[in-house]
Amino acid sequence: MRPIFRPLPFASAVLAAAGLLAACTTTQPYPKEYAACYERVQQHAAQLMPVFAALGYRMEPDVRLDEDMVNNRGFRAPDDVLGDAIPNGRIRLRPSRVCASESLARAVLAHEMAHVALQHRGVRGTGVTLAWEKPPQQEIEADGLALKVLRQAGGYPGAVTYVACRLGSCVKAPAVNRAAPPQPGR
Ligand SMILES: [Zn+2]
Repeated sequence: MRPIFRPLPFASAVLAAAGLLAACTTTQPYPKEYAACYERVQQHAAQLMPVFAALGYRMEPDVRLDEDMVNNRGFRAPDDVLGDAIPNGRIRLRPSRVCASESLARAVLAHEMAHVALQHRGVRGTGVTLAWEKPPQQEIEADGLALKVLRQAGGYPGAVTYVACRLGSCVKAPAVNRAAPPQPGR
């Protein structure tokens, strides 16, 4: 079982929907039971931002925890989508999938921040599925930058390993990938 990114077909047009949502809602940017996770994710973002900046990527990510990750057509993102990002810096992470593992949360956050840094449009959702597939070019680019940033930031070897494995540079056992993060329950 290998983590890959799964395409989220409608993510490219989320910007318009996000603008509408921002205009007519004042809800907090996380479900209240995930307040502690939200704080930790913000700390990770604050720690990773200067590393991106040192590499020439300045941004102010707006990171939220969003369980439904509704797309611009009003549909909930598939269950295996862990996060997404749009070029203006808005990043959504799915708390039920990433909050159980701080390393996973950091890895997914770094990946989504890399999409923002690289100004990727039509960014794919971040997912976990049962097959290892060759990710699209944007996913490889985002993972490459995320890995660089995570290594330079230091700490959290689990997050580094997660992204390195996605790029195919971790040791794999025939049946079980021991370096992969635990698969969240369904
Ligand atoms: Zn991605």
